[in-house]
Amino acid sequence: MLEVKNYLCLMSTPEAILKEVFGYDEFRPKQKEIIDHILDKRDGLVLMPTGGGKSICFQIPGLMFEGLTLVISPLISLMKDQVEALKANGIAAAYYNSSLSSNEETDVRSLVESKSLKFLYVSPERLIGGGIPWLKDDDISFVAIDEAHCVSMWGHDFRPEYTQLKLIRERWSHCPFVAFTATADKVTRKDIVEQLGLRSPKTFVSSFDRKNLSLKVRPQMTQKEKLKEIISFINRRPHQAGIIYCLSRKETEALAANLATAGIDAEAYHAGFSSDVRSKVQEDFINDRTQVICATIAFGMGIDKSNVRWVMHYNMPKNIEGYYQEIGRAGRDGLPSDTVLYFSMKDIVMLSKFIEDSGQKELNKTKLDRMLQYAEATTCRRRVLLSYFGEYMKEDCGNCDICEHPPVSFDGTQLTQMALSAAVRTKEKVATVMLVNILRGSANSEVLANEYDKIKTYGVGKMVSFREWKHYIVQMLNQGLFELAYDEGFSLKVTKAAKEVLLGQKAIQLTKVPEEVPQDEIKAAKKRPSKAISENDVLFEKLRALRKRIASEAKVPPYQVFNDATLRDMVQIKPTNFERFLDVSGVGEFKANKYAHDFLAEIAGYLKTQKKPSDTFYKTLELFHKGLSPKQIAIDRDLQVTTIYSHLANLYIDGRLQTLEGLVEEDSIKLVRSVMPQIEEKSKLRPYYDALNEQVPYHEIRLALAYLEKTGELEVAQ
Ligand code: ADP
Ligand code: ZN
Repeated sequence: MLEVKNYLCLMSTPEAILKEVFGYDEFRPKQKEIIDHILDKRDGLVLMPTGGGKSICFQIPGLMFEGLTLVISPLISLMKDQVEALKANGIAAAYYNSSLSSNEETDVRSLVESKSLKFLYVSPERLIGGGIPWLKDDDISFVAIDEAHCVSMWGHDFRPEYTQLKLIRERWSHCPFVAFTATADKVTRKDIVEQLGLRSPKTFVSSFDRKNLSLKVRPQMTQKEKLKEIISFINRRPHQAGIIYCLSRKETEALAANLATAGIDAEAYHAGFSSDVRSKVQEDFINDRTQVICATIAFGMGIDKSNVRWVMHYNMPKNIEGYYQEIGRAGRDGLPSDTVLYFSMKDIVMLSKFIEDSGQKELNKTKLDRMLQYAEATTCRRRVLLSYFGEYMKEDCGNCDICEHPPVSFDGTQLTQMALSAAVRTKEKVATVMLVNILRGSANSEVLANEYDKIKTYGVGKMVSFREWKHYIVQMLNQGLFELAYDEGFSLKVTKAAKEVLLGQKAIQLTKVPEEVPQDEIKAAKKRPSKAISENDVLFEKLRALRKRIASEAKVPPYQVFNDATLRDMVQIKPTNFERFLDVSGVGEFKANKYAHDFLAEIAGYLKTQKKPSDTFYKTLELFHKGLSPKQIAIDRDLQVTTIYSHLANLYIDGRLQTLEGLVEEDSIKLVRSVMPQIEEKSKLRPYYDALNEQVPYHEIRLALAYLEKTGELEVAQ
């Protein structure tokens, strides 16, 4: 069966394979271009963000070429995941790395020799130095290099074996080599092309914008406030998997324990655990058995889990690259996902200490500064983020906290002068907390011991809260008025630029500190879900549970059966037969054959519970299924025929009626669609009737609107 499919692909088109094998209707931006380029047998470099859809770009050409595609990948877990995903779509794939037993190695070899394999994933160390002697040059038709940034010495994932791939490029001059990475910077790009010896490669850069990720930053909160907010955030997202990145190992454990006490299913993960413990934690997360992971940045590389619904940073990340990669682990399936970044002055001090001890002090400090600028941004955060990667947006994103609650700025000259002058009067010897204590007139022992209560600015800033002061001082740092003296206990030094402010020659704008708990969170907590949403959620949960049962029997991660986006689409469509099941996004033929039976049964079971005998719609549906026309039903039920049509429209929208065929003409739908833009009250029938010169009867308009509502062309007001 596998061979038949593979053979058919040779004669197919990329579009047909996208639909039949992967179950998707359309290519994402750049995917088609990249595929065509590879089909022309040319070298290339593809830069796409995590979750952008790189795999399909090399998998579709791989299916269309005769012979074997080699995928070079640095991580065993990534290879395993991708091979499983290919197999789940009915494609013959295998991996070859140090985790295989010699029997398994033999199996892979015979699959290659009998030409029954389409994809072979190999680690670079296996491949170089004649590591796979039985692999014949002619067997290979295409080489894809995944995570190609590992070839670059500039990156943190540098893998020396990658640099020897150049020899292979020379040896297999007959096939295209295409490198893929989610790391965008220019130096890495150049390195990849040179180190791999790519031949006049074309570079494809897709947008690094991940529109489905919301961006939020929560500055200067105490541990307690943070914890409270995180618990309420998670409680509002039952069953939704998420990752919380912490700076220290100790913190991951403490946070996981605190969350567990609050009844949340959370585990810690860091490099200090044994590899057994680490793989168990990882496996439980991948398989939807653990909801939340509190981890250091050691977690996540090599995790392809597509249904991570949110990512948090419990502390400030070191740089934007790392931050973007980490939040990128959320929402790979394209569904809306949330990200929250917490940061405090303490994080900045801690990170600055690390930087002091690091090899590349200057570079790392600049990177931290850019990170801080992002965290303190007063314009659309996505703009700031993307401009870091050299991309410029035409409009604000509308999906970040700044867009949602634009910050309010005010003349902060006086506050700034207070802070600067207090710092000067301490001879620039104090760090942030002490400075705030002085400004607020705190009588703590350290203040008194140093006689800071005697200085002129003691207590002048009482009216501003401790939290607000910290926030303002970070803003002053960002504006270059203060500098942290790394080698003097992070005391605050007043810069040259600050002198003008102190002399009253320059005004300073500060932004108001955001509320402790943002209003939208409170609103979200109060809002009751509408009926339609909660019913769809019931079905979603049923399908999710079914997916988990199937996955655990097959010993694969649930998202490999179907991802969340596919389940959501299934809930929308509510298919009741095989053909309709194929319409669901992410359902290819192989998966349809395998899973349609179980999922259709679950959906049918759900729809049955929806059919209450007293339900007037249901009575209409029953008669309709018996073969009565709407007119006959109207007579039988003693109702107006327009009422019956309205029942049928509703039944179609809620999925109980599968098709409107025979009830409304295609042409009528087209006509209604054509006048829709000019109609103001889009859910009323009369305006359409008039606009179409009374040529389309009311009942057809009613059904046409139902059709357009289902396709999403008609937006219905809530
Ligand atoms: P990357 O390797 O770039 O991180 P993947 O290849 O894992 O991303 O793709 C991320 C997700 O997007 C996967 O669930 C994949 O099936 C899905 N996907 C890829 N291309 C499309 C498409 N054209 N339409 C819908 N979903 C897609
Ligand atoms: Zn924005």
